[in-house]
This record gives sequence, structure tokens and C-alpha cells, in this order.
Amino acid sequence: MQELLDTLLSRYQPLYTQGKVADYIPALASVAPQQAGIAVATLDGQLFTAGDAHQRFSLQSVSKIFALVMAMNRLGDSLWQRVNMEPSGQPFNSIVQLEWEKGIPRNPVINAGAILVSDVLVSHYSASKAAFLSFIRRLAATETIMADAVVFQSELEHGNRNAALAYLMKSFGNIEADVPAVLAQYFHQCAIAISCSELSRALLFLANRGVQPGLPDAVCSRRDAHRVNAILSTSGMYDQSGEFAFNVGLPAKSGVGGAIVAIVPQYGVITAWSPPLNRYGNSVVAMQLISHLAEELGLSLF
Ligand code: GLN
Repeated sequence: MQELLDTLLSRYQPLYTQGKVADYIPALASVAPQQAGIAVATLDGQLFTAGDAHQRFSLQSVSKIFALVMAMNRLGDSLWQRVNMEPSGQPFNSIVQLEWEKGIPRNPVINAGAILVSDVLVSHYSASKAAFLSFIRRLAATETIMADAVVFQSELEHGNRNAALAYLMKSFGNIEADVPAVLAQYFHQCAIAISCSELSRALLFLANRGVQPGLPDAVCSRRDAHRVNAILSTSGMYDQSGEFAFNVGLPAKSGVGGAIVAIVPQYGVITAWSPPLNRYGNSVVAMQLISHLAEELGLSLF
């Protein structure tokens, strides 16, 4: 495994020049583009890493997984009256579909859906930002995980499109809390800084029917772990989700910080990271690393 990771990294890292680092906020635009890392955490406690696997980066949309699990735990099935579970076929921050569909987001991992989920956290957890942070720290078994204050501030200042999504949902009566509080919750989770190795470990429960190795209680029910993986399979890579299922065949989630996580049920979690993105907002190099690793190891679920 170690040899395979090292080979894949040296083969695909040079492709970073084909992508473009997210530049909607200065804090992300200034990240060094040539960085790349990969970490594979397995259910039996092994961790394999290559490249910049211990370097922290901006969690961004990968945070939507953790928030969704917290919201499912609090609301139960009633969550699914406020957000759907269908692929959107639209860019992650699209507004048009939300108007047509009367403020019900297509799924919880596009921005509209994640903002709805943030509303659930604000409305149903006291000190919801701290609750999110302690959830992710407990899963990663790392107390030093923090939100990056500069990224958070910058997201707030440049968050007009997300604000538009939130106010549109509020106008349809699908947001309970005040919009500024909901947006602050969403940007706080996006601004969390984490590494490939920490992220792979933190998501092991999704490969293990809701049970995190080393924690006494289940993180979520077996059914909810199955549901999260189903949503990631159909929608986790935005409007490249179909192609990713076709080529790789694993539940996965990307973020504009350059990370992609892939869940391998009954085996473990792969996280790859490299900042430059393709036109869908998915990391060019991380995509190559995960695709080729999954192919080499025969990991596709289909
Ligand atoms: N902070 C980003 C946004 O809301 C996250 C999007 C992403 O990672 N795709 O636009």
C-alpha cells in the first residue's frame, strides 16, 4: 500500500497545473497549488499516508457530511420533509432550481441543502458552532482542530450568493433561525482546517455502519450511515457525481479547499487533497489519486 500511494502521488501530483485554485476568497486564493497528499485509514486501525497528508487545509464542503449527521441525529426522519435526496445536476451554488422547487433543496450536500442543515443545527443545538467543533474533534481524536478565523471572516464578507440561497429558503418558510446566524454556522464549518490523515480517521464510522472505532457509542444509526453514503454516491461530487460513480464507484465528497474523501464500506476511508480545482469545483489531482487507487485495489461498490 505504501509503495502504491508513493507511486500514485509522484505520477499525478504534476497534474496540478491543469486546475485552478478557488479564488472566491483571498484566503483560499493564496494557498500553494503544488501541494498534494493522500491518507488511507482502515477499520483495523492502520493509516497509510503520502505527500502532504498531515498538512491542514480548508474543509469547505466536506464539512457538509458532519453537519448532516448531526442534523439527522437531532431531527430524525422529519429532516427529509425540508430537504430532498435527489441529485441536482446543477452547480453546487445554483439558485434557479431552489425557486422552482419552492425552497426545498434537492439534497443536503449542495449549498442550499447544507445551509438548511446549518439552520437545523442553529435551531436545535445550544452553542451550535462549539457543538460542531467538538463533534469533529471527537471523531478525529484531535483536540487541536479549529476553524480558521481568516477564512471564516472572508467567507462572511464574500458570502452574498449563499445569503441569497438562505433568504430565498426563508421566504418559503423553510429556515427557522435568523439568516445571519445560519450563515455564520455554515461558514464556520467550511472554515475548519484539517489534514488528510485527520479527515480519513474522522469519517471511519461511515465505512463501519455508524460505529466509530474507539468510541463507546454509535455516531449514527446503521440506517443513517447507509443513507449518508447513498447521498454521497449520487450527489457528493456535484454535477460530476455520475461520472465519479461510473469511474470510481464509491460514496465521496469534495470541497473547494481541494479535498476529496471516499468511503469504502467495511474497509476504510481515503482522503486526497490538492488545491487546484476542475470546472466542477473538484480537485484535479485528488480525483486522479482516488480514481487510480480505487481501480488498483478494486474498491468499486458496483
Ligand atoms: N464555502 C464554499 C461555499 O459556500 C463551500 C463550497 C464548496 O466547497 N463546494 O461556496
